[in-house]
Amino acid sequence: MAYYKKEGYDKETTDTLIDNYYSILDLLGEDPKREGLLKTPERMAKAMQFMTQGYQLNAIDILNSAKFEENVSEMVIVKDIELYSMCEHHLLPFFGKAHIAYIPNGYITGLSKLARVVDVYARRLQVQERLTTQILSSIRESLNPLGVAVVIEAKHLCMMMRGVQKQNSVTTTSAFDGILLDNHVTRNEFLKLISARLS
Ligand SMILES: [Zn+2]
Repeated sequence: MAYYKKEGYDKETTDTLIDNYYSILDLLGEDPKREGLLKTPERMAKAMQFMTQGYQLNAIDILNSAKFEENVSEMVIVKDIELYSMCEHHLLPFFGKAHIAYIPNGYITGLSKLARVVDVYARRLQVQERLTTQILSSIRESLNPLGVAVVIEAKHLCMMMRGVQKQNSVTTTSAFDGILLDNHVTRNEFLKLISARLS
């Protein structure tokens, strides 16, 4: 085998989570011993650790690992980055797309690194507003660009499945910095580019 990816879980944490999820199923009125639920506590324990793996990752390190000196000052845009996160109030998913732009100031980073930075912060318990600014701050800190912008559009299951039960509402958050904050022409160019559909 030339390539394989290994997934690892801390045993003590996993075992404790399994015990707790077993109790949760029981408290919800289920029978954790019935066939369909036998392995559910273990699956939940692993899924939750996977979905919160961002706590172990460092966005600056990831951006710096593919940081190159490059004398360009054209806006770099990566749009429609798939995003899955979990709201910290209900532990229910919110999901959508992130759009990122920056104007280099002597340095660029790998395009895939921008997508990975989204995951670093999305795979934690989040609110969409903080997720947006954390992505922006990490890019500013690593690359010191002339401008940076992050827009996130997401649907929140805590709004759709419970509470107000609004099925089609999309929450949009944005954060702008540098030229992309100060210069309306540049900012509008970015907003136009992320809303344009490729045909
Ligand atoms: Zn929520």
